[in-house]
Amino acid sequence: MGIQEELENIEMNNKIWLSSPHMGGTEQRFVEEAFTNNWIAPLGPNVDGFEADLQSFCGSGYAAALSSGTAALHLALIILGVTTGDDVLCQSFTFSASANPIIYCGATPVFIDSEVDTWNMCPKHLESAIQDRLSQGKKIKAIIPVHLYGMPAKMDEILAIANKYNIPVVEDAAEGLGSTYKGRPLGSFGGFGVLSFNGNKIITTSGGGALLSENKIFIEQARFLATQARDNAPHYEHTQIGYNYRMSNICAGIGRGQMEVLLQRVSQRRGNYDYYLEQLGDIPGISFLAEPEHFYSNRWLSCIVIDPAMGITREDVRLALVAENIESRPLWKPMHLQPVFEKYSYYGDGVAENLFNNGLCLPSGSNLERADLDRVIRVIKNTFNNPF
Ligand SMILES: *Cc1c(COP(=O)(O)O)cnc(C)c1O
Repeated sequence: MGIQEELENIEMNNKIWLSSPHMGGTEQRFVEEAFTNNWIAPLGPNVDGFEADLQSFCGSGYAAALSSGTAALHLALIILGVTTGDDVLCQSFTFSASANPIIYCGATPVFIDSEVDTWNMCPKHLESAIQDRLSQGKKIKAIIPVHLYGMPAKMDEILAIANKYNIPVVEDAAEGLGSTYKGRPLGSFGGFGVLSFNGNKIITTSGGGALLSENKIFIEQARFLATQARDNAPHYEHTQIGYNYRMSNICAGIGRGQMEVLLQRVSQRRGNYDYYLEQLGDIPGISFLAEPEHFYSNRWLSCIVIDPAMGITREDVRLALVAENIESRPLWKPMHLQPVFEKYSYYGDGVAENLFNNGLCLPSGSNLERADLDRVIRVIKNTFNNPF
């Protein structure tokens, strides 16, 4: 094999990742500033600056930068007083981090199915679950809808039900930064909004999260609990159990740089989705999730659903991609089907389960080239033309 051929071969088989970090260029400047001024700590000007950026972008009032989205969910539940024996109603179709903090609080997760328009929490099943749990004398302390893959949940309907029964909403917007619902940014609807800046999210701080709220006291409480709950005293005085959940000033520096390119990242990810739709949308057996009117998704991950009646399964496609060194992933496995959660109640009729069985997330990074997308598309087209 000649060198030229060999190089082409390497090029052709480069791994294509599902969603990888994509720096904008100014992140290092903020991090360097932290080094120069020796702000190597879980506080400092980058933390303040990043919080200010998030507040103004999300229009949410106040933000606390934290070590992860999971930590943000945990603090939201603690501040709402969720404790042993309480119920928390959570979207079943999600990543486990939406539900784990319910267990950290000693509470009981109750899982709610999705509806087909957004793949997110079904308002009808939510209301039946509330009525059923109340009739059993349960105390429902919070509702956790999730904006999966960036698609907004039906917030008007969910908030109307939450208000009717007077139950606080903790909006899991970990995948939804940059999306809007009726023109308003996700994360600003619930009593609390949760963001994640994990390495695979639309923007990243290498690892991190944030808690948003209109309520200043709640966010002050979150910052207090996240820094070991130290009371105001010259020595270390504690009247509450604390946590070490604050974001470091180094990570927040990356976050400040990433905020400068967030809107660009949204349009790049939406561009991926549009291109996949254009190239694959006409293949019988492949379907995409359209945005309902006034829903604007950041298209964090581009997803397809494959109708097994066509003789090709999601696994056939996934394995064909693996063979070409392309990473893809089944849609989230619903929480009520997870061994760790299967003993808890579930209200629904199989929408999430069906999506898990037949859905696939395609490579969706904002740093993918057109040639990368073409490679993915070629493999999928080949799989559908040559099913055997
Ligand atoms: C990533 C994610 C989280 C957790 O965020 P971390 O920062 O990884 O702790 C929570 N919920 C959903 C839906 C997520 O995708």
